[in-house]
Amino acid sequence: MNSQQLHATPATGKLLVVDDEPNILSSLKRCLVKTPFEVFMANSAQEGLAIMQEHKIQVVLSDFRMPQMSGAEFLEQIKQHHPDVISMVLSGFADFDSAIGLLNSGAAHKFLRKPWNNQQLIEEVDGAFVEYHARIMNRRVLEGEHNPEYYAFEQAVRDQFEMQQEFCLVSLKIKDYDYLEQHAGPGIFTGLLTEIRGLVSSELPQGSKTFAFDSGKIFIIIPDFESEEVIRRRLSAINHKLNEPNTQRKGCVKINCVMGYALAPTDGGDPSSLMENLRCAFSVDNSDRERLCRFDSALRDLQQRQLKIKNSINGALRDNQFFLHFQPKVHLPDQQIDSAEILIRWQHNELGWIPPNEFINLSELDGQIEQIGEWLIDQSVKKIAELHHFTPDLKRVAINISSRQLANHSVVEQFEHLLDKYALPPSLIELEITESCLIQDFEQTLAILWELKELGVSIAMDDFGTGYSSFAYLAKLPIDVLKLDKVLVDGIEGCKEIQSMIGGLIAMCHELGIDVVAEGVELEGQVALLKQLNCDYIQGYYFSKALPKPEFEKLLLQQPFMH
Ligand code: C2E
Ligand code: CA
Ligand code: CA
Repeated sequence: MNSQQLHATPATGKLLVVDDEPNILSSLKRCLVKTPFEVFMANSAQEGLAIMQEHKIQVVLSDFRMPQMSGAEFLEQIKQHHPDVISMVLSGFADFDSAIGLLNSGAAHKFLRKPWNNQQLIEEVDGAFVEYHARIMNRRVLEGEHNPEYYAFEQAVRDQFEMQQEFCLVSLKIKDYDYLEQHAGPGIFTGLLTEIRGLVSSELPQGSKTFAFDSGKIFIIIPDFESEEVIRRRLSAINHKLNEPNTQRKGCVKINCVMGYALAPTDGGDPSSLMENLRCAFSVDNSDRERLCRFDSALRDLQQRQLKIKNSINGALRDNQFFLHFQPKVHLPDQQIDSAEILIRWQHNELGWIPPNEFINLSELDGQIEQIGEWLIDQSVKKIAELHHFTPDLKRVAINISSRQLANHSVVEQFEHLLDKYALPPSLIELEITESCLIQDFEQTLAILWELKELGVSIAMDDFGTGYSSFAYLAKLPIDVLKLDKVLVDGIEGCKEIQSMIGGLIAMCHELGIDVVAEGVELEGQVALLKQLNCDYIQGYYFSKALPKPEFEKLLLQQPFMH
């Protein structure tokens, strides 16, 4: 390990500094050696994490752009595994936008700029240690660590592990507890606790112990149980009774309780991992629908995968891990491939191929789609221009546009700029939008669609047949193409109703001057029926999956296209 411990005594705290640039690391070292803190240095995030495993680090100062694991991923991991640590980003101002997510999520306490001023940096580090102690005090107060009940609870969990027998740990939370206490008075908890203890002794096996904390949080240890099924039924019964309106309860007839449980040692082999996983049971699903949930390692793994995906997006853009593939659309009347849809592909260095649905949806949720989308539009227009030079027979290539991109006027400027840059006829570009684009702000989206349309690009309505797809939309929107979703195509064989509905839809589209593309076509029978119904284009595995550009170019030369 390259880490260096710089300061032995007197140390009032442990600071970890991470940067992949050796020069920066050594000048930080010269600066921070003046502080009273014990300083550890690491030149990668991985090394930083290894140091954190061994030493009780309290403050982290990390670079943002680092190879392999980015600062974003690093700080998210710290937040997850060492939640009390105060982390700060030290990076170029250009990274500020990307670091906003970290600041918002609380994974980073502050963003400090490079180049730094030594005196200011030392003050910031001092401030971070003050913040750390405040955080610890706060947590102790919140969790009632000074409360003897807390020690008793911890001891009881340790005792259970020492007995080396399976046991169940339950956490019961009263939602909106603070509000209840404010409005129903401080005595409320005593009353509720008596009720809960009563239910525990009547419903749960003998020897079950209840521990209660002021914050409205209650733990139950069930030392001995027949089977998970039985314990689940009993917990459910308790939960049900607590959530039922009860006029005997003074001041709070109706309360909202959620329960999570974990079984030891399956769900955690030591007290701290069991407690951590129990917390996870809540964060996975504590919706009102599911009021009783067991910790589920598959869901925790999914959460970790999603976190990893979200944190790798910036690095993937930088390291060119995204590719564009082209799925041909075959024009049925003459069997020509004259158009295509661009579909994004991502090969992650650790997770392998990640389906676009997965990362596009995730990146829509936290806004990263804007960065991916900008890259996508840029690259797509460039590739379309190359294909246009390869063969002038190509009529249209579609780019998928997500709702978030369409909410921003800058998308119009981006296309305007790129069409100009590549001197590309706008008719070559088609934008595939979905109904979800129109749900948020219909008027604004419509205005942007019209501006795009005025540039000369065409617009396709994607996934028609899912969601609320309505004919009313078609007339209102500046649509050139309608894409029938795979769910409709899948139902077409052997179902006269779907056939006549699709037939009617196609006829109506033609009357409005709209072309119809059938998506997800896999079978010969489907092609024949769609042809009979006058469908214009077929897209689907029956003809071809999405291909890398060189393979797509080969297909473009084989015209008319015979399967
Ligand atoms: P979509 O836009 O509806 O794309 C069609 C999806 O169906 C593609 O999946 C395609 O590979 C798949 N597909 C095509 N023919 C067949 C077939 O015959 N059978 C079956 N089973 N599937 C077929 P893919 O590439 O995994 O993309 C899934 C979704 O991810 C897309 O649905 C789209 O919503 C999103 N997506 C993909 N690329 C992009 C992109 O560049 N930008 C945006 N915003 N979204 C994208
Ligand atoms: Ca599409
Ligand atoms: Ca689609």
